Amino acid sequence: MSDYVNVAEIFGEDVFNDTVMQQRLPKKTYKELKKTIEDGKELSLEIADVIAHEMKEWAIEKGATHYTHWFQPLTGVTAEKHDSFITAPKEDGKVLMSFSGKELIKGEPDASSFPSGGLRATFEARGYTAWDCTSPAFVRHDAAGAILCIPTAFCSYTGEALDQKTPLLRSMEAINKQALRLLRLFGNTTSKRVTPSVGPEQEYFLVDEKKFLQRKDLIYTGRTLFGAMPPKGQELDDHYFGTIRQRIAGFMKDANEELWKLGVSAKTQHNEVAPAQHELAPIYAQANIAVDHNQIVMQTLKRIACQHGMKCLLHEKPFAGVNGSGKHNNWSITTDDGINLLDPGKTPHENVQFLLVLSCILKAVDIHADLLRESAADPGNDHRLGANEAPPAIISIFLGEQLEDVLEQLISTGTATKSIKGGKLETGVRTLPELAKDATDRNRTSPFAFTGNKFEFRMVGSRDSIAGPNIVLNTIVAEAFKEVCDVLEKADDFEMAVHDLIKKNCAEHQRIVFNGNGYSDEWVEEAERRGLPNIKSMVDAIPALTTEKSVKLFEEFGVFTRAELESRVEVKYEAYAKAINIEAKTMIDIASKQIIPAVIKYATSLAGSINSIKAAGLEEVSVQSELLTETSKLLKEAKDALAALIEIEKKAVSMEEGAGQARYYHDTVMPAMEALRKPVDELEMIVDKEMWPMPSYGDLIFEV
Ligand code: ADP
Ligand code: MG
Repeated sequence: MSDYVNVAEIFGEDVFNDTVMQQRLPKKTYKELKKTIEDGKELSLEIADVIAHEMKEWAIEKGATHYTHWFQPLTGVTAEKHDSFITAPKEDGKVLMSFSGKELIKGEPDASSFPSGGLRATFEARGYTAWDCTSPAFVRHDAAGAILCIPTAFCSYTGEALDQKTPLLRSMEAINKQALRLLRLFGNTTSKRVTPSVGPEQEYFLVDEKKFLQRKDLIYTGRTLFGAMPPKGQELDDHYFGTIRQRIAGFMKDANEELWKLGVSAKTQHNEVAPAQHELAPIYAQANIAVDHNQIVMQTLKRIACQHGMKCLLHEKPFAGVNGSGKHNNWSITTDDGINLLDPGKTPHENVQFLLVLSCILKAVDIHADLLRESAADPGNDHRLGANEAPPAIISIFLGEQLEDVLEQLISTGTATKSIKGGKLETGVRTLPELAKDATDRNRTSPFAFTGNKFEFRMVGSRDSIAGPNIVLNTIVAEAFKEVCDVLEKADDFEMAVHDLIKKNCAEHQRIVFNGNGYSDEWVEEAERRGLPNIKSMVDAIPALTTEKSVKLFEEFGVFTRAELESRVEVKYEAYAKAINIEAKTMIDIASKQIIPAVIKYATSLAGSINSIKAAGLEEVSVQSELLTETSKLLKEAKDALAALIEIEKKAVSMEEGAGQARYYHDTVMPAMEALRKPVDELEMIVDKEMWPMPSYGDLIFEV
């Protein structure tokens, strides 16, 4: 790649975006498609044929040979099956390139191996994929050549969602409908659509590829299962926002260029807290596009890292002892004409609407804290949430001093009359003090923080799709909006009714607001007193999906049916069990074939040295003897722990799949893994580095 990049020129060059469509599609077709995109109207096959043809021509000009319906099954990653554009050879032996409307709208991957949680019996195992025309198609260039990727939803033949996209689109529809009702009540007659906007900040680690390849644990599980802490960790905070090293900078440059071409507005990059940890944030986009873009970001980071001789680790906790990685899901609700419902606004009128919206969010998050927590649960995130690291597993909302003060006044007196910053409040709830944006966001310990004109949900795992958290956010807020609209549409005195609802929501759900230090032990106790759930692990979180409260919520808004929720529960228990099982087996493999043999070699060399010293007639062997005793003791400990883990893993595998098995992995297999890791990490500090069979933490995170 050349050094000079004209970002404006390359941005979106591989995307079948609005500009391209305007240029290439007949006017009528373009209009029809826009209507479909804007009003969610169905696309006729006739129109689809025209679009497909133009899309294919455009993609072929970009070098594309294949197309794929790019979808997001319940594996957490994207899936694709490539079909080339070629038709059957004609008599002259030549082929044509074709792509029909039918092929564009609908695909039929024989996708029976994707997790479906019992939704599909094998005889009807085929699912179908349907184009999400609100997320633009793009051409991706990689070693496979160029592929036209069509963002897609994935369903069973009977229409049940088998993916992340379908329920996300449904939840967007739910919040659109309820938010519009609310806006109309406040006299807005112009906005046509309300969409959740999402900006995910993505954290990741980069390590040297050669070292990575010497670590079976990284290869198989994405995280280190053994490893003693190096002399230096992150205690100096010298990595955070530090100068980006040249090798990393080169990687970032290429990653940005790739992302820009794909229309992903990569905006911010910096070093994160842990050594070798970095972050990339795009400019926010509408939720379904943000979800797709985040998948593209993760894939691109991985691909470009390889081109630079590195590996990108997206696991939530690749290294014990230093910070793990997450994804801050910034979320707001915006109208098509640019009104952000989470913006406090300038007029008294806007302020009242804002306070009502805010009070609805307090209510939604308080009532459905368990669902939000669940949406951030994955096996990797268990090492962060609730495990002495950011953020805590308890859901609470940070509002900032000013807003919290306003709320308190509303609750105690029913009217907010002053602000602590001295800005003037007029009558009632009618005017909020000008909120200084800086004053609202500097609590990094809160899992759900109001940051000026959006909420930042900080629990999400770095490797996970952000679809889950946004499905929950959209739906729970839709519910709270619906409940106030039901009252307000019937109210005689609108102003009074709004006022009462704000007060009621705030008073009833004030317990969810917490501005203090979310990492402290006192908070854990305080939260318990308040009755807030503290859900420590994925296994504990999963049942939230199928409580009566959850089924009622999701069914009411048409986001999930009970059967879909039940299937997801099944898929998640299974995914958890499988992930931990792979980790356990990897530990067994590494300990048996690499570590124990290496330690024995070291012990043998010590014994040899003791013997030769004695043979030379010298007596002073106490150092070697001490080391040998210590090594042998730890070796025995490791061997016993290994034997125990092997037994436990066998039992786990033999169990019936489901909640019981997942719990066994959590309660029994994980501790057995810990028990093996402990002596091995101690051995690493004793054994000759030359003999240790894999790169150390120091090698991995300080020598990238
Ligand atoms: P930081 O949290 O690091 O201070 P910002 O809060 O400025 O950074 O932005 C983080 C992310 O939030 C970015 O992806 C940004 O585009 C996104 N963001 C900014 N405004 C909004 C909004 N109104 N709705 C959703 N996301 C937003
Ligand atoms: Mg932020």
